[in-house]
Amino acid sequence: MTSSYPRLWPEEQVPGDAEGCTDCGLHLHGSRMVWGEGNPTAPIWVLLDNPGAREDREGKSYVCGTRETLQEAVDQVGLTEKDLYVTYLLKRRPHRAYDKESVRRACLKHLERQLGEKSPQWVICLGNVAVQWFFLDLEAEVRKLRGSWHRVREVRTRVSYHPLAVRRRPNLRSRFLEDWRTGGRSRRISREIKRSPPSRRWMEGYNVGIGCAPAIYDTSIPAKIHYINNTICVWE
Ligand code: SF4
Repeated sequence: MTSSYPRLWPEEQVPGDAEGCTDCGLHLHGSRMVWGEGNPTAPIWVLLDNPGAREDREGKSYVCGTRETLQEAVDQVGLTEKDLYVTYLLKRRPHRAYDKESVRRACLKHLERQLGEKSPQWVICLGNVAVQWFFLDLEAEVRKLRGSWHRVREVRTRVSYHPLAVRRRPNLRSRFLEDWRTGGRSRRISREIKRSPPSRRWMEGYNVGIGCAPAIYDTSIPAKIHYINNTICVWE
């Protein structure tokens, strides 16, 4: 099932004890906090560097180009806002120059809190800033890490380009979609397999094999169906 885009995804409310955070000084830029959007209990998380523009001069909500490009990719791989939760390294949008490293370091605690509370199955980091701070490696780069699964902070992780970079450089679009297709197809298979048992023909269509694993996620074995706690799970 696909959804139309662009559209406003529901925003998650900022927790009361985090609302009004002034730890890094970005509150002086006048932007409001954005905790996340989409489905807060979704298995797949998307991590971006910071929220983009969300309201116009009159305060009316709109979908910025970054989110439109993201939604387009999500739609093309058959996912919806129910499958995803989008969150940010910085919970406020910077409006002018700032000390990037100290601000990002200060705000990281909110993301770590979210991860601890919700335990996503997969995280897709978009753009070098999100990748570097999620991987805690300030030398990390999308171009070197995309195309493979990584195990980061105990979560299966993929990386791709920032949607804004994709808008500015149309030659990245096919690679961006390719990255989304891998994650999206895995999610779709998982959904379909729960509805009906897999047939050999169906599985051949996806070029996956069959394997058994103990009740843990063994991500070292690619392209397998695993039986975990009596549930059939698929990933690539
Ligand atoms: S950007 Fe993060 S650390 Fe800085 S004030 Fe906002 S919530 Fe606090």
